Amino acid sequence: MSARESIIPVFVPHLGCPNDCVFCNQRRISGHQAPATVETVENAIETAAALPSNGAKRQMAFYGGSFTAIPVAEQEALLRAAKRYIDSGFLSSIRLSTRPDAIDEAVLERLSRYGVETVEIGAQSLDDEVLLRANRGHTAADVENAARLIKAAGFRLILQMMTGLPGDSGRQSIETAKKIIALKPDGVRIYPTVIVRDTALYDMWQMNEYPEHTVEKAVEVCAEIVPLFEEAGIPIIRLGLNPTDDLSGGDAAGGAYHPALGELVKSRIMLKKAEKLLEGVEARSVVLGVHPSLVSQLVGQHRGNIAVLMAKFALEDVKVRPADIEKGEVVLIDVAK
Ligand code: SF4
Repeated sequence: MSARESIIPVFVPHLGCPNDCVFCNQRRISGHQAPATVETVENAIETAAALPSNGAKRQMAFYGGSFTAIPVAEQEALLRAAKRYIDSGFLSSIRLSTRPDAIDEAVLERLSRYGVETVEIGAQSLDDEVLLRANRGHTAADVENAARLIKAAGFRLILQMMTGLPGDSGRQSIETAKKIIALKPDGVRIYPTVIVRDTALYDMWQMNEYPEHTVEKAVEVCAEIVPLFEEAGIPIIRLGLNPTDDLSGGDAAGGAYHPALGELVKSRIMLKKAEKLLEGVEARSVVLGVHPSLVSQLVGQHRGNIAVLMAKFALEDVKVRPADIEKGEVVLIDVAK
């Protein structure tokens, strides 16, 4: 999505979903209980029409369920309702999210006919054992097949992956990221696992059958994955679940739920760069340089990164100064022995 596009979301909770993934209670995650109808589409458009567009293109997004697994008549009713606003020039296009095993050539032909431009696939993992334990009901091959069909048909492809699912020690997430990169999506969303109440995962956690994917573990794994996507030039359009009142109010019972997860990950990546830089450096104190906009990222929340560097390298002091360098670089400005 460019800066000149605005999204009009319509949630289709659990509509079309053929199974129950262990981590999912889509009605709670989306924060919307009722299934989407033609009226939902029209109301969303009316609400958006009342707001200034500032020249941005408007895109309707069907999120939350498995859109292409909905009975065809219901899919077409929703798509037809949205398409009317494409034809009138109000909307520029439609995007939607779905399951990988609910994609084939006939499905894509239908989506194309109604003006869908972007298809998001919940891949979650490309490790078959992890997919099985998450009760996803599809394989890694289904994801790869869907991704190829979507790209071949000319849609923009967004892939969603999760970290910290049962059976994923972190290695599987890193392998999944590499396999996703090989599929050349136009963007990715990374969702570290959150333990949501009223899910099978919550019960597994309560029975000590699932070790919590803590914020700390998620930050560590994502600090490995994010640079892989960045090096491949694949935009990360979301990291971590969008905070909602329900999740913050207690539905997120455990796991990697943090409103600033993305910032924590960026800060960890900077810490790793600083650690690499200081390896083998003998000093009593150091001054590190970083792009002016990233000073607080390197310092870390509550000066956490500074504390780690001081302890790890037995330093008496670590200072961070703005420097005229590329974003993401960390340099050593001064060393006192
Ligand atoms: S397929 Fe999607 S909507 Fe259905 S249970 Fe799994 S995550 Fe939830």
